[in-house]
Amino acid sequence: AAEEGFDAEDVDRDLAAAGHGPLPVLAVVGRPNVGKSTLVNRIIGRREAVVEDRPGVTRDRVSYEATWNGRRFKLVDTGGWEVDVLGIDAAVAAQAEFGIETADAVLFVVDATVGPTDTDEALVKLLRRSGKPVVLCANKVDGPSTEADAAMLWSLGLGEPFPVSALHGRGSGDLLDAVMEALPEAPPQTFGVALGGPRRVALLGRPNVGKSSLLNQVAGEERVVVNEIAGTTRDPVDELIELGGQTWKFVDTAGIRRRVHLTEGADFYASLRTASALEKAEVAVILIDASETLAEQDTRIITMAVEAGRAVVIAYNKWDLLDEERRYYLEREIEKDLVQVRWAPRVNVSARTGRHMEKLVPAIETALEGWETRVPTGKLNSFLGELVAAHPHPIRGGKQPRILFGTQAGTRPPRFVLFASGFLEAGYRRFVERRLREEFGFAGTPISISVRVRE
Ligand code: GDP
Ligand code: GDP
Repeated sequence: AAEEGFDAEDVDRDLAAAGHGPLPVLAVVGRPNVGKSTLVNRIIGRREAVVEDRPGVTRDRVSYEATWNGRRFKLVDTGGWEVDVLGIDAAVAAQAEFGIETADAVLFVVDATVGPTDTDEALVKLLRRSGKPVVLCANKVDGPSTEADAAMLWSLGLGEPFPVSALHGRGSGDLLDAVMEALPEAPPQTFGVALGGPRRVALLGRPNVGKSSLLNQVAGEERVVVNEIAGTTRDPVDELIELGGQTWKFVDTAGIRRRVHLTEGADFYASLRTASALEKAEVAVILIDASETLAEQDTRIITMAVEAGRAVVIAYNKWDLLDEERRYYLEREIEKDLVQVRWAPRVNVSARTGRHMEKLVPAIETALEGWETRVPTGKLNSFLGELVAAHPHPIRGGKQPRILFGTQAGTRPPRFVLFASGFLEAGYRRFVERRLREEFGFAGTPISISVRVRE
């Protein structure tokens, strides 16, 4: 009875609104100054993406939701990443590589008034290799007189160039129609996570926490290199590793082994790598240096993993370096530092000595199990009924909002939609989450709860 009035479409809309929708992703790729941000602004109909004449401007918002003909999609402006820390070409390639990797289709923007440059050609190679559908935008075709410029771009071998003026809007409708044809109806993956095959693990952590050491420790001699080619590099990106009687795919290990010796760009590359590894992985093993205090970069990586909706295991490495005193203080620090992921299984290891390596797999398994847990609707609602009876929402303005019923709308990670008779305060939501965790586990996984108010 609790499910009466339950409307799957409503739930989908709620989830999407909460940022958890299975929206297809379109990456906008191109050299600096070709007009990517202008085009993004045009498509989202807002002036939110910052536009600057100067290439290499830092922009912090890179992902937008857009709609065309009633279809929604996610738009990623790859020009939004900081590019001035590296040489422009390296940065453009890195951004494009990442953008392409994480997208369902690519909108490739070329400045038609300039024609194809070497950088454009290099991007074409990346695009071809990716096998992703590409729509070619010949931008800055502001009037009929420059339409011939667009036709020149047939030479790129990417099919029909769509002449567009991002500045004035000319041609953008046809372009978006083509984009819609290129985008899958719903992404073929759940949360960017393909199903099947060996479980995928991202080994994350700031430079020098011991990622390569740990990889060597767990991989031993049995290492099998997976021959997947990423972008311009010829490095194998993933490795199959036998651990605890199972095969695991450690994603993006090339990024770990290839030590980046850039002093300035290292941070930039590290966070690109983290994002791209998270995109591919199901579970993140986040390494933290136990011999040092938690750094801002550690927190950032944890946040990225949680926001990506991945299962999380926290591994304190370099345990061999700790003396009694440090150990004592560390326990207190951890309590404080890890409030955000209090639910994550934690292991204290040493990549150098091999200490507690055998605890890694059980921790990963626990986290994946929590990540995939599904609570049947009946069970969830009897739990919610008891909870509401025992701990009603505080009365606000003479009214008492009540949770009417709930459903788990998805897993990997678990996502809940609660239907309520009024707005639920943040404190009460946190309480509900805490009780959900106590009741059903969810160790090692973020969970999301969205609330839909029924009048
Ligand atoms: P991005 O670096 O690729 O994101 O490029 P921007 O969107 O920042 O645009 C770079 C410059 O090109 C800005 O001065 C824009 O106003 C200009 N621009 C962008 N699109 C067009 C267009 O369709 N026509 C003309 N004439 N200029 C454009
Ligand atoms: P990465 O940058 O995260 O890949 O870190 P590395 O694996 O290259 O390790 C950085 C440094 O920390 C190296 O000098 C390692 O020998 C050292 N290291 C890694 N793990 C441990 C550990 O468990 N104990 C100690 N004492 N040193 C470690």
